[in-house]
Amino acid sequence: MTTIHNLGFPRIGAQRELKFALESYWRGESSLDALQQLGAQLRQRHWENQKGLDLVPVGDFSFYDQVLDMGFTLGHLPERVRGFQGDALDNYFRVARGRSAPVSEASSTCCGGVAAGEMTKWFDTNYHYIVPEFTATTPFQLDTSRLLAQLAEAQAQGVQAKPVIIGPVTYLAIGKAKDGCDKLALLPRLLPVYAELLETLAAQGVEWVQVDEPILVTELDADWQHAFNTAYHQLKSCRVKLLLATYFGPLQENLYLAAHLPVAGLHLDAVNGRDDIVPLLNLLPAHKVLSLGVINGRNIWKTDLNAVLDWLEPLAQRLGSRLWLAPSCSLLHVPVDLANEQKLDTEVRSWLAFALQKLDELQLLATALRDGRHAVKDALAANQADMLARRTSARVHNRAVQSAVARISQHMGLRESCYAQRAPKQAALLQLPLYPTTTIGSFPQTAAIRHTRSEFKAGRCTTEAYKAAMQAEIARSVHEQEALGLDVLVHGEAERNDMVEYFGEQLEGYAFSQFGWVQSYGSRCVKPPILFGDIYRPHPMTVEWIGYAQSLTTKPMKGMLTGPVTMLNWSFVRDDQPRSESCKQLALAIRQEVLDLEAAGVQIIQIDEAALREGLPLRQSLWQEYLNWAVESFRITANGVRDETQIHTHMCYSEFNDIIAAIAAMDADVITIETSRSDMELLEVFKHFNYPNEIGPGVYDIHTPNIPTQEHIIHLMRKAAEHIPAQRLWINPDCGLKTRQWAEVIPALSNMVAAAKTLRAVT
Ligand code: GLN
Ligand code: ZN
Repeated sequence: MTTIHNLGFPRIGAQRELKFALESYWRGESSLDALQQLGAQLRQRHWENQKGLDLVPVGDFSFYDQVLDMGFTLGHLPERVRGFQGDALDNYFRVARGRSAPVSEASSTCCGGVAAGEMTKWFDTNYHYIVPEFTATTPFQLDTSRLLAQLAEAQAQGVQAKPVIIGPVTYLAIGKAKDGCDKLALLPRLLPVYAELLETLAAQGVEWVQVDEPILVTELDADWQHAFNTAYHQLKSCRVKLLLATYFGPLQENLYLAAHLPVAGLHLDAVNGRDDIVPLLNLLPAHKVLSLGVINGRNIWKTDLNAVLDWLEPLAQRLGSRLWLAPSCSLLHVPVDLANEQKLDTEVRSWLAFALQKLDELQLLATALRDGRHAVKDALAANQADMLARRTSARVHNRAVQSAVARISQHMGLRESCYAQRAPKQAALLQLPLYPTTTIGSFPQTAAIRHTRSEFKAGRCTTEAYKAAMQAEIARSVHEQEALGLDVLVHGEAERNDMVEYFGEQLEGYAFSQFGWVQSYGSRCVKPPILFGDIYRPHPMTVEWIGYAQSLTTKPMKGMLTGPVTMLNWSFVRDDQPRSESCKQLALAIRQEVLDLEAAGVQIIQIDEAALREGLPLRQSLWQEYLNWAVESFRITANGVRDETQIHTHMCYSEFNDIIAAIAAMDADVITIETSRSDMELLEVFKHFNYPNEIGPGVYDIHTPNIPTQEHIIHLMRKAAEHIPAQRLWINPDCGLKTRQWAEVIPALSNMVAAAKTLRAVT
C-alpha cells in the first residue's frame, strides 16, 4: 500500500478569498473576527479538498507567510516589534507589513510606524517570504498556539493530520544575520525549542511531522552539512516520526548526508531530482520511508501518468509500503482549480492540471500501484490521449518557428560595431545634453485607464473608443513630459495591463487563465500567462502606439518592450522542451518588433529585463549555463539594429555582483537600474568591471510617495560620477511610475530635471 500525501495547499483560495479578506481588514472595513472565520473556512475547505489523501498537511495555511509563521512559533520576532500589546494577529501583520491592521488603529497607537520585514524570493520560486532576522543574542521561545489550534480543527474534521514546519537548518540558512553574527552559533539555542514543539505535537496524537529542509538542494559548506547532523541527532529522540522534505532540485552531493540523517522518512523531488533516486535506494537504511514527489508542484501541466508508472512500478516492488507519493513540493506555487476556467480554449485546457487536478492524479497513481493499471484503465487511457494530443498538436508545434530557432547564427546577436563606435553616431543623431533625463516607461495607471480597459474587455466599449481613450492618455503623458523638460520621452504604457501579459496576449503560443492566481507575497497574487506552444508574432505589437506618441513630439520617443528572459521567467512555461528553447523563440518574436520599431523611425528602443536575475538556478554551478542562453536571447532580440539606433535595457534590482559580466555581454547602449536605496554604492561593481557602456542609476525610489529633493538627486549623481564618467551617465527614476499618482510624479520629475540642469551648469 502506497501512502499518498501533500506537502502544502494553496491558501489564497480558488477565488482569492484570502486576499480580499485581508485587504478589507487592513482597510478597516471588516473585523478581525471575520478574517479569522474566513481563515478557518478556507482551511476546512482545503482539507475537504484533500480528503482522498492518507496524510494531509496542517499548518501550511498562513495569513501572510509560512516563514513568518514559523518565526512566531519559535518566539522569534524582530527586536523592533517585541513588546507589542494587542492582538497576536495584529502584531503579526505589523511585522509583515510595517503597520498593524486597521488604518485608524495604526495611526493612533504607539506601534504604528515600524519598518516592514524585508522580503526575498523563496528559493527559485516567485513566492516572497519575510526574512528572519538574527543577532548573536536572538532568543527563542516556543509558541504553539497557531499550530495547535489548526491541528485541533483538522482533528475535529477527522483529517489525518501531518503538521508541516520549516526545519531548523533551513530556517537559519534563509535568515539574515543583522549584526554579522554566525547564524549556526544559534543552533544550540534553537534546537530545544524544536524538540519541545515536536513533543507537544506528539502529545496531541500526531504521528508524522513534515520538516521542510529545502536548503539541502543547494550547495552547503562543511559547517552547514554538520549542522544537519547536529540538529537531527538531537531531535531523534522525539516521539513523532519526522518526514524530512526537500524539493526544488536534486540533492546531488548532499544525498549521502540526507540519506543518513536519523529521521523516519525522506521526501525528494522526483521531478527535478529524479537522477538521485536510484543511488538513494542503495543508500537508504531499510527502515526509512521514501516519499517521491512525482507530480510537478511548480507547473500547470498534466502528468504523463503512464510514463510515471513505468518508472515507479519497479520502485514500488522494491519498497513496498515504504514508498510514499506526493507532489514534488507544496502546491502553493500553482492555482487551485482548473474547473473554474470557463474561457480557456478547450484544447489547451485538456493539457492542464491545477492543484486539485494534481491531487486527483496522485490518487490515480496510488490506485494503479495498488490494484494494477487495469483498475484505472479509462483514466489512464484518457490521460494518454491528452499527452499524445499535446505532443502532436499543431497549436504547440510549428515547423517554421523551430527552423527559425535552428537557423539562429552568432551574427544575429552582434551589433554592427562596438559601443565605442556606435556611441558617437547615436550622439550625433540624438543631440542629447550631458546627463540626459528619461523615465523607465510607465506613467500612472489611473482609475480611469483601468476602468476603460475593463469596459473594453467586457465588450462595453468599442475598439475605436478604447483606442481613442488610450491615445488621449498617451498625449497627456507626452505633454507632461514636454512641460517637465525631459530629454527622452516615453509613451507611458497606458494600453498595458501588465508588462508580460500585454505581449503574451499578442503572441501565438500563449494562453491566459481567468483564475490562475498564485500567491506572490502576503495578499499579492500574480496570474502567470501560460506559454504552451512555439512562439511567434502574427503582427506588430507596439508600433502603432509608439508611432502615435512620436508624432506628438520632436523629442526622441523611446520604444518600450519586455525582453525574452523576463517573458519566460514570469510565465508558466513548457515542460516538453528546455527553457532556453522557449526563450529563443521569444527572442526571435521580439526581435521582429525591435526591427519594426526601427523601420518606423524609432531611434531608441528599451527592452526590459526586470526578471533576468531571478532566473538564476539554485545551484551556482548552473548559473553560467543559464546566463549564457539568457544573454544570447537578449542579444538576438536587441542587436539586429543599426549603429545609430540606441538600445536601452532596464533591471529593477540592485544585486549585480554575480552577473556583471553577463550584463556587460548584453551590450545594451544604456542600462537603467535601481540604485537609489543603496546610495549609488552598487555602481562600484560596474566600476570594478570597467563596464563600458552608459548607465542610468535610478535616483529615486518609486515604491514610496515621497518626493525626492533636487539636492538629494544631485548628491546621488555626484556619487555616481565618482564611479562612472559623467559622459556615460543618465538620470532617471528606479523603475516605472505606473503605481504612482500624477500629483507625485510631476514634482518628483520636476526636481529630477532641475537637478540635471544644475549638474550640467557646473560640469
Ligand atoms: N517599462 C516598465 C515600466 O515602466 C518596467 C517595469 C519593471 O521594470 N518592472 O513599468
Ligand atoms: Zn523596474
